[in-house]
Amino acid sequence: MLHLSFQPLLLELRHPFRIATGMRTHTNAVMTQIRSGEHTGYGEAAMPPYYGENCDTASNFLTRAKEVLGRFKTPFPIENILAEIDAIAPGNHAAKASVDIALHDLRAKQQNKPLWQLLDADPTQMPPTSFTLGMDTPQLLRKKVDESADFNILKVKLGSDDDRAIIRTVREVSDKPIYADANQAWTNREKALELIHWLAGQNVLLIEQPTPKDDLDSAAWLSERSPLPVIADESFQRLHELDRVAGAFHGVNIKLMKCTGLYEGIRAVRAARQKKLKVMVGCMTETSCGILAAAALAPLCDFADIDGCWLISNNPFDLPTLDGGKIRLSGQAGLGLTGPGEIR
Ligand code: MG
Repeated sequence: MLHLSFQPLLLELRHPFRIATGMRTHTNAVMTQIRSGEHTGYGEAAMPPYYGENCDTASNFLTRAKEVLGRFKTPFPIENILAEIDAIAPGNHAAKASVDIALHDLRAKQQNKPLWQLLDADPTQMPPTSFTLGMDTPQLLRKKVDESADFNILKVKLGSDDDRAIIRTVREVSDKPIYADANQAWTNREKALELIHWLAGQNVLLIEQPTPKDDLDSAAWLSERSPLPVIADESFQRLHELDRVAGAFHGVNIKLMKCTGLYEGIRAVRAARQKKLKVMVGCMTETSCGILAAAALAPLCDFADIDGCWLISNNPFDLPTLDGGKIRLSGQAGLGLTGPGEIR
């Protein structure tokens, strides 16, 4: 029998995290475990405030998921199990992902294989992971650039009154390539295009979610003219939305917490590839658990922005190992999660 247990965990950010849509000092998460025989699979729901989930909604959902899982003996009919989990209620994407990730970890452990191998990912194809800089004072920005020494790409949050000033500050102390993320803030597309042309001259490699999430007209207008790839984040959550956004962007940012986990995530990667879209795998503020799940998928993607566990101060697990700014996928069975594993 599959036995689900879960507990809330408040993820504390090392620094207050400011983006165009708000500031926060912590993120709500719920950690899950699914036991079967001698093995335990670990999962996680990380819930930033803007997608409407919280510890109460996740607890309610997971209480019902516990009943569903209790009817299955093994994690192997994973498609059937996850279809039933998805049907419990609409929404609850992160809570669903926490079940999905734990099931994948459990299944890989029972097969004594690393998860990336079950996903047909090749660790030698791992893209470098960017390290995120929120919107801060010049002094704090410089400090964060210092803290990013192990990473070879910076992700810079834009959407302020003076985005050029933010980039200039970063460029005073670093010449690493930059992924820029406007988090929907650029409501004037002509100005946005002008800024993107300027950014292209600053070794910025791509632009994430420049315009408001439902304004696909502006996104399409920009994508047609932009010298840099324009990637959908807030405009794209689940696989069935791919057709809607495909014509308006050059690529999509797939996050397990948006798309309900690895089962749908890998299908979203394949579907996006078929549509000749660029694929980024992203994350929320997460522990090593969610990050290693995303990392198993990352070799199938063009870009990786999976640094969430480096941004928090109370990660209950060991940090993943970085080789030249890339997360190393280990030969350990399952997610490859190590450390105390105790949720405090
Ligand atoms: Mg983003």
